[in-house]
Amino acid sequence: MQWKDMAQEIINGYTITKAEALQLLFSADDDLLDILNAAFLIRRHYFGRGIALHVIQNAKSGLCSEDCAYCSQSGASNADVPQYALQDAEKIINGARKASDLKALRYCVVISGREPADDDLDIICSAVRKIKKDIRIEICTSLGLLNMKQAKLLKDAGVDRFNHNLESSERFYPEICSTHSYAERKRTAAIVKSAGLELCSGGLIGMGESLEDRVDLSLALRDAGADSIPLNFLDPRPGTALEGLNKLMPADCLRTLIMFRFVHPDKEIRVASGREACLGPMQVMSLYAANSIFTKGYLTTPGQGYDDDIDMIFKAGFTVTGWTAA
Ligand code: SF4
Repeated sequence: MQWKDMAQEIINGYTITKAEALQLLFSADDDLLDILNAAFLIRRHYFGRGIALHVIQNAKSGLCSEDCAYCSQSGASNADVPQYALQDAEKIINGARKASDLKALRYCVVISGREPADDDLDIICSAVRKIKKDIRIEICTSLGLLNMKQAKLLKDAGVDRFNHNLESSERFYPEICSTHSYAERKRTAAIVKSAGLELCSGGLIGMGESLEDRVDLSLALRDAGADSIPLNFLDPRPGTALEGLNKLMPADCLRTLIMFRFVHPDKEIRVASGREACLGPMQVMSLYAANSIFTKGYLTTPGQGYDDDIDMIFKAGFTVTGWTAA
């Protein structure tokens, strides 16, 4: 079957198998434009040409007890990153105001650490209440492992979405983290859904996992009911355990995004950190599979900049979700 025919089948309700998803990842460079075009048919059916803009606020940075091998904020890394305690509510609210001024759809408040401390959760909930009252923007929080009581507090405060990435496959996960388990990550994802929050959950590609691990991650996210899927591509940071790895080639990143679009036809897929570092001048091609980006940079690394993001989107004939024509 041609991939564009498969795309139409998926739009008609077909669920792609693991073997078919793997076939996409193993496809040749010569076939890249064919599979990208097929992914675009699915993406256009559900999302038109819209790109949802997200802005991240790194509200608490560094000094984390966990040993995630890829993370420059881990206590196990010697990376040179800012270290600070939770920002006060006013600073978090100001971040939302700035994101709204840029007409971002969502504002993502992220803190380092295994789980949120009670005091930190109080401050975040109070900031969220004020943001929801005064500023028109959706709110996602990413605060580590969560229990049901904490999830309900966030939901009651007005949080729309909670991010907790599965990061990789269950098989590969112990290779990159020993301080918490895949089961704990899946439990947090399940709690988020049970509390009535949207689940944002994705992963980091390029940590040494196999192509099958990438497909298994995609299928695990489907099982978890992820509503939004950020795909990050490893840009190995000096001082982290993965600093010696090579960056992925652009075609690998694109094949992965394409496979995720086939597995998650109607879900928001975000081409997240590593977009600039791994895709380089080919990053615009990622928009044919993904329908969302982070703009204004990432947690500890800058992006290409807001103006360049908007330029890239409009020059390629895409639009920004939520923006109305002038
Ligand atoms: S828990 Fe989060 S902040 Fe801590 S090391 Fe892991 S990814 Fe980094």
